[in-house]
Amino acid sequence: MNDNQLLRYSRHILLDEIGIEGQQKLLASHALVIGAGGLGSPVALYLASAGVGRITLVDNDTVDLTNLQRQILHGTGSVGAAKAASGKASLARINPDVEVIALQERVAGGRLRELVAQADVVLDCSDNFATRHAINRACVEAKTPLVSGAAIRFDGQISVFDARDAASPCYACLFPPEQEFEEVQCSTMGVFAPLVGIIGAMQAAEALKLLAGVGESLAGRLMLLEARAMEWTTIKLERNQACSVCGKHH
Ligand SMILES: [Zn+2]
Repeated sequence: MNDNQLLRYSRHILLDEIGIEGQQKLLASHALVIGAGGLGSPVALYLASAGVGRITLVDNDTVDLTNLQRQILHGTGSVGAAKAASGKASLARINPDVEVIALQERVAGGRLRELVAQADVVLDCSDNFATRHAINRACVEAKTPLVSGAAIRFDGQISVFDARDAASPCYACLFPPEQEFEEVQCSTMGVFAPLVGIIGAMQAAEALKLLAGVGESLAGRLMLLEARAMEWTTIKLERNQACSVCGKHH
C-alpha cells in the first residue's frame, strides 16, 4: 500500500480484526455484484469505498426516474443511462483505486458461471427468483460464497450461502426451485427507500467480512427484518439433503 492508501484505509487498518493484512486482502479481492439497483447501490458504494480491488457490476437495465427514490448509486443526470455505466462513474468518483468492470447484460448460463468462477464473493442484488436461482446454482458449482439479500415493501431478508462449507445450506435449500413462490416486485408493490440501504449495507458488511476473514458469516442463519416495527427475526437454516442444487454435490 502507498501512503495515500494507508490514509484512505486507515480506519480499517486501525481495527485489530482487519489491520494491514485484512485491508490487503480486500485490495486483492474481486467481488461480483449482480444488480445495480436498490440493493446493489449501497453494496457497490461500500465495497468500493472500502477498497475491494476489483468489482464487476452487472445490470442490463437503464436508470429510470422511479429508481432514484432508493437507488443511491445513480443521480438525476443519469436517467436514461445504463445502470452499470452510471454505477461505474459513481464508484470512480469515490475511489479511483478500484477497478470496476461494468457489464450491461442479463447474465445467465455459461456466462454467469464464468463470472462467478472468477469472483471471490458474489452479491445477489437481483429482484427475481429466476436470477436468484441461477446465481445460486453457479455459486454452488464454483464453491463461491454468496451474499443474498432481498427487500420489498417494509420487509427485508439477508443470508450467506457458503458452498465451501459442507454444513452451509444453499439458497435452493431454503426456496426449492421446484416450488412456486409469489413473485413480488418493487415496481408493483413499492419499497421503503432506506430498507434497501439497510439490507444492502449488511450485504456489503458480510462480503467484506468474508473477503478479509473477519468474524463469523451469516451462513446457516437467515435474518428477516420487519421495518414497520423495526424488528429482526433470525432463523436457523439447515442444509436440505434432498436439495436439487447442492444435494448431489456433497
Ligand atoms: Zn441446497
